[in-house]
Amino acid sequence: MKKYDIIIVGAGPSGMMAAIRAGQLKKEVLLIEKNNKLGQKLLISGKGRCNITNIQEPDKFIYNFSSTGLFLRSAFAKLFNTELIKFFEAKGLQVKIERGGRVFPSDDRANSVLKVLKLYLQENKVKIIYNNPVVDIKVGKNSEFSVELKNREIVKSKSLILATGGLSYPLTGSTGEGFGFAKNLGHKIVDLSAGLVPLEVKERWAKELQGLSLKNIRIKFICGKKTITSEIGEMLFTHFGVSGPLILELSSNVVDWLKAAKDPIKLIIDLKPGLDEKQLDRRLIRDFGNQGSKIYKNVLAEILPGKLIDVFVEISGISQNKKANQITQEERRKIVRLLKDFSLTITKPRPIEEAIVTRGGVLTKEIDPRTMQSRLLKGLYFCGEIIDVDAVSGGYNLQAAFSTGFLAGESAGKED
Ligand SMILES: Cc1cc2nc3c(=O)[nH]c(=O)nc-3n(C[C@H](O)[C@H](O)[C@H](O)COP(=O)(O)OP(=O)(O)OC[C@H]3O[C@@H](n4cnc5c(N)ncnc54)[C@H](O)[C@@H]3O)c2cc1C
Repeated sequence: MKKYDIIIVGAGPSGMMAAIRAGQLKKEVLLIEKNNKLGQKLLISGKGRCNITNIQEPDKFIYNFSSTGLFLRSAFAKLFNTELIKFFEAKGLQVKIERGGRVFPSDDRANSVLKVLKLYLQENKVKIIYNNPVVDIKVGKNSEFSVELKNREIVKSKSLILATGGLSYPLTGSTGEGFGFAKNLGHKIVDLSAGLVPLEVKERWAKELQGLSLKNIRIKFICGKKTITSEIGEMLFTHFGVSGPLILELSSNVVDWLKAAKDPIKLIIDLKPGLDEKQLDRRLIRDFGNQGSKIYKNVLAEILPGKLIDVFVEISGISQNKKANQITQEERRKIVRLLKDFSLTITKPRPIEEAIVTRGGVLTKEIDPRTMQSRLLKGLYFCGEIIDVDAVSGGYNLQAAFSTGFLAGESAGKED
């Protein structure tokens, strides 16, 4: 039975980074991955382009996380965005900065990010077992970890790092076994739910809009007296409801509301955020005046995407064949309101498997933020999405995975 200094379960970004750092500290490290490849989720991140981090300053950076974000302070102090970028650049990866400070590899390929991680793993002599999930973890009397693999092999170590990720996109390997291991080892798991997740809607007509991407719009969710409003951006209609950047961005709040809501949750789309109601009314007066002999529906084609027109006309309740110059002032106002307040009702989130991140996880209070070591069991460490921290999109989640991975690897690597 082989013994290692450190065993790391899960070869996502956090587990790979932990292994690299512990390897740099000359420890004998075993990285165990259930898939036959490393970093499956990393490869699909950022639509295959991998948004590795964000250039925002530390103080602002942390506010992109949910309420447990402050837990990450020490991890960010060890390895933050500039250090992460240097880490990749040192092995030849060039990066570029895009909208909202998002950092991507210059060649838009997540695989280039993974290649660098593989180089570091090799350079630091990390041993990797592929295709062999960990099925059980026990702690012996001498505080040694005994890790059982699916093929019944048992490996042992003084320190153990759990880096098994969350519950979303299970085909990438993140199926949540790590939460079971953590629980068996005495840790509390904060309820798991979907973060950055598409949402289902009640209106049947939404299905007709499947595939329609709305650009340069603003959205707002309303639940009783609570409101959250997005920036101007993009959203998408799907066969079940709504998705796309703006929806995902605000979805975590909506998921919380859905858990407790008595009031219906409304999604309000402002289809013309650049114009206020008065300006929009003047625009319609002009358009309807200039093209008075055209039918109303055809004039709308100038201000709305084609796929939306039939649904819009139906909701407006105005006959589609009505000539533009016959539209009354009251009807025009109705159109203006509909353009500013195009509304749908949210019924539920899509399942957690379709979420970009998992909310909840190992309770942060039971982990020492300065080391990522369990406060309950010496030698046990956590990093990445298994911990109860999550952020909006923009590169924050991967930075958290890399930073906590680095800190866990360093802390375990410095233990005698
Ligand atoms: C579609 C999508 C796009 C995303 N895009 C971005 C983005 O652009 N930027 C960003 O910041 N974040 C993005 N994220 C989030 C980000 O990918 C995750 O937060 C990050 O991958 C978490 O890293 P991790 O190492 O904690 O876990 P994971 O990447 O989930 O890795 C966990 C690993 O553990 C392995 N494992 C699990 N159980 C076992 C076991 N029992 N035995 C052995 N191995 C096991 C899994 O196979 C997996 O390889 C995206 C997520 C998704 C789903």
